[in-house]
Amino acid sequence: MIPITEAIEIVLRHTEKLGVESVELSNSEARILAEDIIADTDLPPFDRAQMDGYAVRADDVRNTPARLRIVGESAAGAGWHHEMNSGQAVRIMTGAPVPKGADAVQQVELTREDGSEVVEILEPVSSGRSIVRQASEINAGETVLRAGEQISAAMIATLTSFGYAAVRVSRQPRLAVMATGSELVDVNKKPGRDQIRDSNNYTIEAYASQSNAIVERLPLAGDNTEELKRMIREAAETSDVLITSGGVSMGVYDFTKVALKELGAEIFFERVALRPGKPTVFARLGNTLVFGLPGNPVSVAVTFNLFVRTALRAMQGATHTTLDRDHAVLARDVKGSADRESYLPAVLRTDEKGVLLAEPLKWGGSSDFVAFAKATALINVPAGAKLIDRGSTVRVVRLPD
Ligand code: AMP
Ligand code: MG
Repeated sequence: MIPITEAIEIVLRHTEKLGVESVELSNSEARILAEDIIADTDLPPFDRAQMDGYAVRADDVRNTPARLRIVGESAAGAGWHHEMNSGQAVRIMTGAPVPKGADAVQQVELTREDGSEVVEILEPVSSGRSIVRQASEINAGETVLRAGEQISAAMIATLTSFGYAAVRVSRQPRLAVMATGSELVDVNKKPGRDQIRDSNNYTIEAYASQSNAIVERLPLAGDNTEELKRMIREAAETSDVLITSGGVSMGVYDFTKVALKELGAEIFFERVALRPGKPTVFARLGNTLVFGLPGNPVSVAVTFNLFVRTALRAMQGATHTTLDRDHAVLARDVKGSADRESYLPAVLRTDEKGVLLAEPLKWGGSSDFVAFAKATALINVPAGAKLIDRGSTVRVVRLPD
């Protein structure tokens, strides 16, 4: 049995970066950048009006009301490109370039137009007011995003504004998922006597898609070494990562490890000091990384997010590979385990004082996926901690949505 941190190190050590491809901007959300993004213009690209109103010289409107002659109009996309002199004003709209000679914009609400030639400025305005100066946000040539960042919806504006119609990102990992267990039937079947529906394949597919994997769901595999060997061998030929679930504990019909070993896979670890998720296997067959996850659905969710997610993101060159960590105050007592670190499902909430609380879920153990679905985080209880009292500060990791 190895500690979780060591298991994650081993996963990272055996994870190789995938190649790079170019995708259109509209398909880039959630992908991992494989190039630095460089500004090709200043932002703003010119001194820009932040209000509808009049471009003026602040000195001209120290004493108000002040009457100024309107000499032109600067609209968004159609600026007034002359020099504005003292005693003059230019009618200006939000987003339009501020003409030379003007050093402030007075908002239209504080002006009165007197005919079309003259404007009365009703209040003084300080120099620089309502102008966003050229390059005050970004200088041309600046690096605005770095390779390894995950493209968010908010970043799309950045990519667009600097002309990245296509962007270089990591290739998507090809992932095969294979549930094992002679008791399993697919979702569209009514389970017969002694049977249950497979949920792991679909759960893993959903989680893996969140990490950009292209997922192939394999047919359900029975507890039969030869069948497992054939399916694992075939899956390894076409995928970067293979995930199995079930068949890794100590039961008489737990054949996943046997199959891997008989195929000549290199086993890097097969037991982690983790609750739930102790019998997790990590191996390599040819160039394919294999994760043998336990069968219990909650163990699958926990081990996927701790190990597989990390590997998938590292393969794509992501800077952040592990779940976001935080500290929270326990809302109820939790029990630890003598020899394993625990990752226990919890709901995070903030109390009236703004303190982040972790409320451990009431659950029936690692098979209770209905309770687990409510969890937004996992409470990390160190090995050897018998009981942690409510009110203690604990480490938590946030689960993906
Ligand atoms: P195992 O690790 O194969 O001993 O399985 C542990 C428990 O998880 C057993 O109760 C299995 O029936 C259950 N289980 C295994 N695979 C799945 C699956 N794909 N979907 C739902 N439950 C499963
Ligand atoms: Mg089984």
